[in-house]
Amino acid sequence: MSTSVERSVVDGPAFDELEEAFGGELVRPGDALYDECRRIWNGSIDRRPVLIARCAGVADVIAAVRFARTTGSVVAVRSGGHSWPGLSVCDGGIVIDLSLMKGIRVDPQAMTVRAQGGVLLGELDRETQAFGMAVPAGVVTHTGLAGLTLGGGIGHLMRKYGLTRDQLLAVDVVTADGELVQASESENPELFWGVRGGGGNFGIVTSFEFRLNPLGPIVVAGPVFWHMHDAPEVLRFYRDWIADIPDELTTIINFRKAPASPTIPEELWEQPVVAVLCTYAGPVEAGEAVVRPLKEFGTVAHDQCGPKPFLAHQAMLDPGLPHGWWYYCKSCDVGELTNEVIDITVEHSLRIRSPRTSYPIFHCGGAVRRVADDDTAFNGRSAGHTYNINAIAAGDNGEGFEEEREWARNLWDALAPYHTSVYTNFLMDEGEAGIRQAYGAAKFDRLQQLKREYDPENFFRLNQNIPPS
Ligand code: FAD
Repeated sequence: MSTSVERSVVDGPAFDELEEAFGGELVRPGDALYDECRRIWNGSIDRRPVLIARCAGVADVIAAVRFARTTGSVVAVRSGGHSWPGLSVCDGGIVIDLSLMKGIRVDPQAMTVRAQGGVLLGELDRETQAFGMAVPAGVVTHTGLAGLTLGGGIGHLMRKYGLTRDQLLAVDVVTADGELVQASESENPELFWGVRGGGGNFGIVTSFEFRLNPLGPIVVAGPVFWHMHDAPEVLRFYRDWIADIPDELTTIINFRKAPASPTIPEELWEQPVVAVLCTYAGPVEAGEAVVRPLKEFGTVAHDQCGPKPFLAHQAMLDPGLPHGWWYYCKSCDVGELTNEVIDITVEHSLRIRSPRTSYPIFHCGGAVRRVADDDTAFNGRSAGHTYNINAIAAGDNGEGFEEEREWARNLWDALAPYHTSVYTNFLMDEGEAGIRQAYGAAKFDRLQQLKREYDPENFFRLNQNIPPS
């Protein structure tokens, strides 16, 4: 329940002024849309803001920021609503919601695309694939482009083309003062450095301009499955095979109980499996040759890897991570798949109980590694191949969820001696220590200096926060 002080925020003259000027929708407790608009992807988050300002454009974002300042309200910023710890919704404050801002403009000659802050990954792919181009992004189409880009953006195309934020050419940002500024390599370059990895700490990004890359529309892609009892041999084979593959191929290893999906043979449903999910960002024939040794290894339980439209491939993981389930994620990076890491991985994967829970490992390296570490605020490009590990606990609702969460924490603890870094977009609410680890001391200090310049009062603090001091 909101307090009377909080309710007065939306009953006073400042609110009347906002309402007069606002082009989008202002949603308050009791309005028909309120429950739908305060819900985010992670069903375990249940928060009640006093106002959800659903912005139609930049003018609305500016008006909402100024209103929040005038009323002294806490602010959450929402784009795709996929923050694992629920940082895009708050209790008793204002949500500045960009999800109605869906403009996308592709320039096929210049090979660039502009996208507004409310665009989802699948929406961007649909527009860019119409021209046989893509921005490398994440692996679930209903994820928000804004939060993903500002944190980094790992996905199926990263080894060939880099992170999402490596494609950024320019951004429009509404600052804590309610001013619109542009940032690029030539304009406000330090801010441009900071938004490429520093999340929503410096302002609300209303528009992104990206470089485009050629892709598809047909690519060799999809998972190859083995029974989990074969996982130790599969992983050792994978580790050797992956050492020499070209950057065109990005793979994700996934451990879980096979979903009861029509695309998977019924005898595998709910059986523990390991899958290697491939995406080859290059010609089909070359891709088929590269993935052949994997497809021929051991006793393959099911093979879905072959030529297909990139758009279909991008949507493949959507049903396994739907809106509304309860989720918890523990993430870390490891430098190598050593025998010890493999043994821990297999041991804990065999303990997965819920058919919703999964354990993906993203193979990074390639183009991700070729950007110099100091060029952006993103950390963890380190030498070698580098694996990003996510223990994703999931359940239909709160029933049995604590045990799933415990499973994720135990796996993370067991891998602790091998952690090299952590990716901010997969952090839960892990406090300043987690954020410092994610950026490393030098980058954290530089980000703090930038925060002091753009947001000295920490107006934007519901994020993986870099406090000004
Ligand atoms: P939101 O919840 O709307 O926002 C997340 C954070 O970003 C909040 O702190 C918010 O304040 C801030 N923010 C949002 N919009 C803006 C803006 N316009 N300006 C300033 N700050 C803003 N990450 C990957 O790299 N690769 C993946 O493949 C991947 N897959 C995922 C799949 C799922 C199902 C989920 C839930 C997450 C995935 N992620 C992935 C992590 C994802 O990148 C982060 O959760 C990201 O923050 C989501 O962005 P969003 O806009 O949807 O989130």
